[in-house]
Amino acid sequence: MLSRLKEIINNSSDIVFFGGAGVSTESGIPDFRSADGLYMMNYKYPPESILSHTFFTEHTKEFFEFYRKNMIFTDAKPNAAHLKLAELEKVKKLKAVVTQNIDGLHTAAGSKTVFELHGSTLRNYCMKCGKFHGVESILKSADVPKCECGGIIKPDVVLYEESLDEETVNGAINAIKKADTLIVAGTSLRVYPAAGFIRYFSGDNLILINKDSTEMDNRFDLIVNGKIGEILSLI
Ligand code: NAD
Repeated sequence: MLSRLKEIINNSSDIVFFGGAGVSTESGIPDFRSADGLYMMNYKYPPESILSHTFFTEHTKEFFEFYRKNMIFTDAKPNAAHLKLAELEKVKKLKAVVTQNIDGLHTAAGSKTVFELHGSTLRNYCMKCGKFHGVESILKSADVPKCECGGIIKPDVVLYEESLDEETVNGAINAIKKADTLIVAGTSLRVYPAAGFIRYFSGDNLILINKDSTEMDNRFDLIVNGKIGEILSLI
């Protein structure tokens, strides 16, 4: 498996990487659906409900309590997977990273073309005056974070029920359409519309690197089961 993966990467010149929460578990950020993921923790509501637009609007204080505790990881560092992808971009093999993650670790690792489909916890803006705020404005507030103008500061992340940013979506789809190899990794492929993006791929090699199986396993040309950081560091 690993030798085939190496061979494909060596022979590709337009790789796109499509990743999810599993890409950052080796940086200490829990995913949603692994055994130690957020879904297994006992919250009053499922994470998907808490991270929805309706919940944000109707229970803003509880939203921020959950969000502050479970979605912001300012001490997390890029792992071997993030670093290898940045290296592959530098040598012009990889053309883009499309990520469902909101932790900013691909950019921190040095990747330049990154499509953050679900936004970033590092960016936040005032819902009233539009002013941008850093992540510390969320962390330092014990309650609902507020701007100097009195407006609520909202994370620039796409909540459930909200639509994805059009420019980011178009950039991601165009990159996937042109790619000769698409590496999908660290995702359960259960969050839509993001999971549907792989159908735009028409290149030669559709690869999955994942710890567990997914409902879409039968679509892939090559599957490597394991930890993405460990696997990519062997490439
Ligand atoms: P998910 O939790 O549904 O699935 C994660 C998948 O990654 C699982 O199939 C698991 O087997 C696999 N995995 C876990 N660790 C791995 C590793 N080291 N190597 C390879 N595979 C590994 O995640 P999802 O599909 O991305 O959907 C969850 C949603 O929640 C996404 O929208 C995502 O943005 C968001 N989320 C983001 C973060 C983050 O930014 N780091 C963290 C949690 C959730």
